Amino acid sequence: MTNGQVSIEKNTYYDVTFEDLTHDGAGVAKIDGYPIFVPNALPDERAKIKVIKVKKGYGFGKLIEIYEKGPYRVDAPCPVYKECGGCQLQHMSYEGQMVAKQKQVQEVLTRIGKLKNIKVHPVLGMEKPWRYRNKAQVPVADREGGLAAGFYQQRSHEIIDMEACMIQQEKNDEVVQTVKRICEKYGVKAYDEQNHRGTLRHIMARYGLVTGEIMVVLITRTKDLPNKNKIIDEITEQIVGVKSIAQNINPKKTNVIFGDETNVLWGEEYIYDNIGEIKFAISARSFYQVNPEQTKVLYDKALEYASLTGKETVIDAYCGIGTITLFLAQNAKQVYGVEIVPEAIEDAKRNAILNGIDNVEFAVGEAEVVIPNWKKDGIHADVIVVDPPRKGCDDALLQTIIEMKPKRVVYVSCNPATLARDLRILEDGGFETVEVQPVDMFPHTVHVECVAQLILKEGN
Ligand code: SAH
Repeated sequence: MTNGQVSIEKNTYYDVTFEDLTHDGAGVAKIDGYPIFVPNALPDERAKIKVIKVKKGYGFGKLIEIYEKGPYRVDAPCPVYKECGGCQLQHMSYEGQMVAKQKQVQEVLTRIGKLKNIKVHPVLGMEKPWRYRNKAQVPVADREGGLAAGFYQQRSHEIIDMEACMIQQEKNDEVVQTVKRICEKYGVKAYDEQNHRGTLRHIMARYGLVTGEIMVVLITRTKDLPNKNKIIDEITEQIVGVKSIAQNINPKKTNVIFGDETNVLWGEEYIYDNIGEIKFAISARSFYQVNPEQTKVLYDKALEYASLTGKETVIDAYCGIGTITLFLAQNAKQVYGVEIVPEAIEDAKRNAILNGIDNVEFAVGEAEVVIPNWKKDGIHADVIVVDPPRKGCDDALLQTIIEMKPKRVVYVSCNPATLARDLRILEDGGFETVEVQPVDMFPHTVHVECVAQLILKEGN
């Protein structure tokens, strides 16, 4: 590949200095202006690399030797960090991760969103950024003398046994190990992907951070689970706090974890957890935020940006199980939530009743279809909150927001690139982005969540 004066060849070695980090955590170095992405390298590091792929405008390399470490380089604390791939930034200090995530958001909003001088606050991170996940879904395999439960080795289907995951609640690690031993004891065979035989596919553990309640789900290929009652007895004896044991049956040849049928084997259908003042019922298949501590931080910020006085009508688009909706309802006159998954809306309605909240209404459907219909029916929102999936908001929804002219829009986003694209559309439609607050929901991974506040510009 020729780039101006230089020609960069595959399989050649270069000494480079890294300047930046990509959104997926690779280091970026430039060889005479030609960017090379190198996994595991960090900004301000000087290193020898080998070029392994050359494309038109950029290439990929492999880190061979670090001559000078960057200021944020640390030894990854997890012993299986490299094989697992669940985390991508453990080789960077948490302080460094916060700096990098803030910079990434700022850069993307400026470049893609063309938002000049946009105020992006420092990332709200965790005081103790470990052991935060409240849900473990662990694949199981047969090994000589028992079962392995752990993770798929990167880019393979090999299951590596693992006793502890450093971003998982300790309680979940304990539950998985206990259930694994009990299933071993009663001769349960693990699912064998190649031959589509065996029984136990995954063990799932869920932990209510505030309530301490535990749910165990055994995901099996067949409905038949040998020694089912003995397994249940031992789980209830050995796991303190267990409130629900369920079985999900997935007979298909698939990478998808869950099948369609779920049966409660013992105890309750739900466990409970709280985020702030709101209580949630969580079933085996319910979506629930995996880092509840930071979810509270995120929702408090969304609530602050909504600036509610109790008189407003609010729409919560992409509402899931109504988490944000119920949070907003505490300070609004009326909140309308819309979500595409019918089961999530059932959960949302149940959670509203559970909390005695009656100023909410939920609808199943596409936000971009339901909200224009609400508008036709004469519903006017003072504030609209959106929390879309990674692909961002549908354009039809953004156009409806522009036509509806709410006083404020609060945009909760898990993807800075689509946030930037959508903020540009809303800006062109008469809104102004006041500020953006990144929140670290997933320490040691490359993900970053943001909340943005927009106000309707005067004269619109
Ligand atoms: N606000 C919720 C969930 C956000 S995740 C919470 O914080 O818990 C995004 C949600 O958008 C998912 O529940 C997904 O099912 C839903 N979704 C995806 N596309 C949609 C669409 N076109 N219309 C409405 N909801 C949609």
